[in-house]
Amino acid sequence: MHSTVVIHRAPWLFSMAGPALADGAVAVHDNRIVGTGRFSDLQGRIPGAVIVDHPDCVLMPGLVNAHIHLELSHLAHLAQQRKSQSFVDWLTTMLAERERLGAVGQAVEKAARTVLQGQFDAGVIALADIGNTPLARTLTEQFPGILFPFLEYLGLGRRSLVPALKKLARQEDGIACTAHAPYSTHPELIRALKKRSDNLGNMFPIHVAEPASETSLLSNDGGELADFLRRRGFYENIFQGAGIDITGSVRYLHSLGVLDAKTICVHGVHVSRDEIRLLQQAGAKVCLCPGSNRFLQVGRAPVTEYLAQGILPALGTDSAASNPELSIWREMRCVAEDHPTAPPMTILRMATIGGAQALALEAGYGTLETGKSASLLAVSIPGSMKKQQDVAEHLVHRGYESRKAWITNGSGEQ
Ligand SMILES: [Zn+2]
Repeated sequence: MHSTVVIHRAPWLFSMAGPALADGAVAVHDNRIVGTGRFSDLQGRIPGAVIVDHPDCVLMPGLVNAHIHLELSHLAHLAQQRKSQSFVDWLTTMLAERERLGAVGQAVEKAARTVLQGQFDAGVIALADIGNTPLARTLTEQFPGILFPFLEYLGLGRRSLVPALKKLARQEDGIACTAHAPYSTHPELIRALKKRSDNLGNMFPIHVAEPASETSLLSNDGGELADFLRRRGFYENIFQGAGIDITGSVRYLHSLGVLDAKTICVHGVHVSRDEIRLLQQAGAKVCLCPGSNRFLQVGRAPVTEYLAQGILPALGTDSAASNPELSIWREMRCVAEDHPTAPPMTILRMATIGGAQALALEAGYGTLETGKSASLLAVSIPGSMKKQQDVAEHLVHRGYESRKAWITNGSGEQ
């Protein structure tokens, strides 16, 4: 308990709630923000506060990694090798490696813990994890930030549908469940999972339009995913039905009735302008994974079109098996490199408030504003930077190599 208000002062305040401020400050009391603004104003408003200087730093909110698979962390060697030939090549290799090395066990857990700690050390305050095993659920309590574990369901065939629905009906309410992807999950299972999510008030993340071949599979036009499923004996043309639109992944999910403000469409690479409008109208969230998309060579998400239609996407690293660097800082750099017209400040907002909105955490996180959590980050910058634009560009392009410190309480840094 700190009875005194502490004012943290830095050359720059990037609150993400408004323009950046030079000589900015954040006043903190009992782990809550009680004021933000220019240092001189805040000092005048709160006499007697303890002042802590953070020279050559930017104060900003913690980042959000809106999509990760911690249980695949032991497969990091897959993303350190050459780039995959195709999405299906990677999928085949990943499944074989997971079979060979095991999906559970000490090595799997150790790798996941290391990755999770690395996320926090790099300034990530909240993550959404997708897994087929209980691993992430066992990690939530020790994690100093917020970790949302989602148990993923998949299964395409008609025969697997009834057992999957029965399993879902028996699932404890405390376990958030979600569907893997349109290409891997029976439409009735997707609907049942979404309905259960809504009943429990959970978010509903789902991989959408990651490889181009998802659309050709849905519309029964073949493609490498259809071939892959055929080879594994899972192929069934179960996507067509009355009132079901199979001309695009987003249209398909919309016609299944599962797109709303609690749905997080992860990847969203192969989506048309009309589909982005559907997402916007539904208030659905979008999480982009540019680093993983680059490694798997599935294409680039239409970032400028999302922004033009009023969607601020979140960012996610995806797993260590498909991304050589699990860093939201690097995801920001990938967006900037792939979409040079995207403003750096907008890219920083994707990694903070965009992620917080996707995970329904914006009441406490994502920006530095009065009443929100005082989990703030001090990120070092070269002392010579005098312009907001230079600082924003530096954070986006070079933030991965900056020193980061959490200011979680009172006057100290940890
Ligand atoms: Zn994923």
